Amino acid sequence: MARYTGPVCKLCRREGMKLYLKGERCFKDKCGFEKKGYPPGQHGQVRKKISDYGLQLREKQKVKRIYGVLEKQFRRYFERASRMQGITGENLLQLLERRLDNIVYRAGFARSRKEARQLVRHNHFMVNGKKVNIPSYLCKPGDFIEVREKSRDIVAIKESIDTAEGRGLPEWISLDKANFKATVNRLPIRSDINYEVQEHLIVELYSK
Ligand code: SF4
Repeated sequence: MARYTGPVCKLCRREGMKLYLKGERCFKDKCGFEKKGYPPGQHGQVRKKISDYGLQLREKQKVKRIYGVLEKQFRRYFERASRMQGITGENLLQLLERRLDNIVYRAGFARSRKEARQLVRHNHFMVNGKKVNIPSYLCKPGDFIEVREKSRDIVAIKESIDTAEGRGLPEWISLDKANFKATVNRLPIRSDINYEVQEHLIVELYSK
């Protein structure tokens, strides 16, 4: 399974915003974006005029990087979103939010989506009582996601749950901390997306 393995703080600097890719570190002074809030590279601090295409491209790259999805898979999400009823850009964000690794992160079982993805791959979660180790598994309303009994002592999961409330739990997910269980209450809507994104630019880019 392909994934990005390069330096992640550079991705935040490139996109000009914090993408919260490194867990706890993102909330501390050590955050790479807090230290150097300009794009990486030799010409990072040079002001450049960005074209319409450049804006669209940056928006797409930003969303891909937030969810840790590579181009081919992201394109598939877009195609699926464009076949769904409603606004394509919002459908796209909804599909990405419904990924199991995202829900594990949003529910507070992991401190970053990257960590969530690894925990899912390593068989630490069940969906509706069945073992699921596919990070891209799409959850639906009514699904419940549990940490497997044997995985409840994992330090990363325990520490993450303890600090989850500080990171904020979205309204569409509820967490039963005592039983290591999260429930998807409803589908996420646009107002549940808590980072700045102009999804219509992604639609414009792919519609060319
Ligand atoms: Fe981005 Fe987190 Fe690195 Fe800060 S610490 S630059 S938010 S990945």
